[in-house]
Amino acid sequence: MQRRESLCYPWQEAVSITGYCNSDSMLVACDGRIAIAVDIESRTPKIESVLGGIGTVVEWTPFPEMSFCDKCKNAGQVETSCEICGGSGRHNCCCGSEHDCGKCDGSGEATEDCELCRIVLDGPVGVQYAIAGRDARRISTLPVVKYGFAENEAPTIYLKFSGGFGKVMAKEIGK
Ligand SMILES: [Zn+2]
Ligand SMILES: [Zn+2]
Ligand SMILES: [Zn+2]
Repeated sequence: MQRRESLCYPWQEAVSITGYCNSDSMLVACDGRIAIAVDIESRTPKIESVLGGIGTVVEWTPFPEMSFCDKCKNAGQVETSCEICGGSGRHNCCCGSEHDCGKCDGSGEATEDCELCRIVLDGPVGVQYAIAGRDARRISTLPVVKYGFAENEAPTIYLKFSGGFGKVMAKEIGK
């Protein structure tokens, strides 16, 4: 049995599940809660179409160091109450009875990105871009990670780190 955290990185594997599927090469990804496996040949988009712009990045800058966050304990997101039901978990339905809130499934809880962990980066032509707390925390755990802007692709930001590269969606916050 693999350790749970080791499952949080995608991996490629020949998969043979009796009566269900047989493939020489499937890509498996898991975030600790949901696992998916896709046939590499038929289902995955071409890497060039997703990450091709990385070749136009002219300058790579070290991603900002992130210190320990007392608010979210480095999770990058915090618990809050559901905005729809106000935390009650209940919904007064037009049918006259009460149901579980459809937004939070009756838990009354929600999560939101930690404001303190939001990272603001200076982009081209003086425009600033924000990376949400959860994304910023995840990126900051990559080894020796740097970021850069590609031509005409803002607000997406490219990432380069020891062993790989990637891209993240940021949000333009103006000059
Ligand atoms: Zn935080
Ligand atoms: Zn109803
Ligand atoms: Zn709710």
